[in-house]
Amino acid sequence: MSHAKGLIFLGPPGSGKGTQAQLLSEQLTIPHISTGEMLREAITKKTKLGKRVQYYVNKGELVPDELLLNLIRERLNQDDVQSGWILDGFPRNVSQATFLDKLLLELGKFSEQAINLEVSDNQLVKRLLLRGREDDNEETIRRRLEVYREKTKPVIDYYQQQCRLTSVDGTPPLERVTASLKEVITT
Ligand code: AMP
Repeated sequence: MSHAKGLIFLGPPGSGKGTQAQLLSEQLTIPHISTGEMLREAITKKTKLGKRVQYYVNKGELVPDELLLNLIRERLNQDDVQSGWILDGFPRNVSQATFLDKLLLELGKFSEQAINLEVSDNQLVKRLLLRGREDDNEETIRRRLEVYREKTKPVIDYYQQQCRLTSVDGTPPLERVTASLKEVITT
């Protein structure tokens, strides 16, 4: 049985995980799977899924699990991700994490590693306000950070308790963080 590497990038909004995931995806030539990007694309294209998720994304709330689970299942079954992937933005709560565990067990070929990018709260708000995405207004940012603390922080604990988590300081300049990430990614 072949073992392809699956990287799960965790960290609060504004931690730089999307940017780092994209950079590493190019450098390691494995696809970057961002659920946020997939949802924004669905919204732009006004697909059925897009129409259902728009309300949540604009408010900074989590999209209901049932809409995400199929999306992830289908994505991890596609040809281009069979030799590895970087997942960014999923899992966002513990039930998504247990779903992912089951799915990966079922697929049977991926050895996954969860990496947490750590950044202090005041840095996060500063970075998010600079980014200027449509859902980056102050109210939504505040809500996204709250949702992160309530729902996503337990995912970090979930991986930590199982000794499956590596933490990396996300505060230094971008290239240094990329270098640290490369150091901790096991083959
Ligand atoms: P992101 O680009 O990862 O910051 O995600 C942007 C928005 O998409 C979030 O604020 C959520 O509304 C939604 N979203 C992305 N990934 C998920 C997920 N795994 N579960 C629920 N909602 C998600």
